[in-house]
Amino acid sequence: MNEATESAVWHPFTQHGLGEPIPLIERAAGARLYDALGNSWIDAISSWWVTTHGHAHPRIMAAIRAQTERLDQLIYAGWTHEPAESLAAGLIRITPDPLTRVFFSDSGSTSVEVALKMALGTFANIGEDRHRILVLQYSYHGDTIGAMSVGERGVYNRAYQPLLFDVGTIPFPHEGQEQACLDALEAACAAKETGDAPAAFIVEPLILGAGGMLVYPAWVLAEMRAICARHRVLFIADEVMTGWGRTGTRFACEQAGVIPDILCLSKGLTGGAIPLAVTLCVEPIFAAHLSTDRARLFYHSSSYTANPIACAAANANLAIWDEEPVQARIDALAEAQAAHLSLLAGHPRVVNPRRLGTIAALDVAAPDSGYLSALAPRLIAFFRDRGVLLRPLGNSIYVMPPYCITPDELAEVWAAIAAALDSL
Ligand SMILES: *Cc1c(COP(=O)(O)O)cnc(C)c1O
Repeated sequence: MNEATESAVWHPFTQHGLGEPIPLIERAAGARLYDALGNSWIDAISSWWVTTHGHAHPRIMAAIRAQTERLDQLIYAGWTHEPAESLAAGLIRITPDPLTRVFFSDSGSTSVEVALKMALGTFANIGEDRHRILVLQYSYHGDTIGAMSVGERGVYNRAYQPLLFDVGTIPFPHEGQEQACLDALEAACAAKETGDAPAAFIVEPLILGAGGMLVYPAWVLAEMRAICARHRVLFIADEVMTGWGRTGTRFACEQAGVIPDILCLSKGLTGGAIPLAVTLCVEPIFAAHLSTDRARLFYHSSSYTANPIACAAANANLAIWDEEPVQARIDALAEAQAAHLSLLAGHPRVVNPRRLGTIAALDVAAPDSGYLSALAPRLIAFFRDRGVLLRPLGNSIYVMPPYCITPDELAEVWAAIAAALDSL
């Protein structure tokens, strides 16, 4: 395996003190990563949930190349370009009618920050004293301070805790406890006292990703949405991970018939090729900022807002969805995942096997659990040595491959999981 040596790089979510090897990847195609020595790995987690159609999809690569010949970057405050205009129009076309406006940014975390600021700005501009944010237990929305504030608190953000803002946390709707979750949301939404009145509820629809691939039913999501609507609490759907087919439909909200007030998209927006994010919103949120008064404008921008090359990649992604049998690939992958999972479901080490669309997950019965569990790094190394890129969340192993993964490659991934379970 080719490794980086004498490197100046400080890696994300990596404890360099453990001296674990860091493979040096040279190229990727489809569901496979290759190093310069000819080793390859099956990318069973879509390079951290971003790669949807496969690495280096020819159409997305061609769109990027073509765009580099025309326009690389443009200030986006008060200027525009064709790739962003067609992408905004395309996103409005494929999302429910009430979503009418598209705000561009550059990562999932930023799309969440934008969503929170849109919600707070809306109530500030209409002169209503609502600024509490409600969140679901175990959620993950990104690693910037605002995104961490609305996410689960733990070892990964303990050092920053004093700066994280207060939120109202709604208990996760574990099986049999759905009503308690909904009752808590209802009570929190109804709060009227200064400081308690909520502006928004932010939620990952149907499955909590980084929280451990925790699934909950569509009817609960629909009820959550209805509760927020009744109390005029803005409903923010963070589909940064669930978007673009992961849960079996293009967007997870579709399965619950839910139309959010604000929708965050990133990761698979460009097919996973290049960073880009959008925050879509309903017209009243835009209207609350619409005025001849400059003090009411939406005060947010990043340098690379709506970068033309990234927008061109996203337009190619939309074209792929329109013209290639993406849904059929997703359906086939979902079915194959279900079959593989059911074969392992009875394994004595397997707890809580679960699947939603193309995502399959299981927990490993082991004495220590949680994010710092010693099991995860051992499993990661085991899989890496067998040519599979998997990165368990604590004791939860999940498989979230690109939709182009072949049946043989998928079988290899599951064989590696079975071998890992047997080795324990
Ligand atoms: C990954 C993720 C984010 C953060 O996206 P980044 O692009 O890593 O900043 C936000 N929300 C959810 C649900 C995610 O899975």
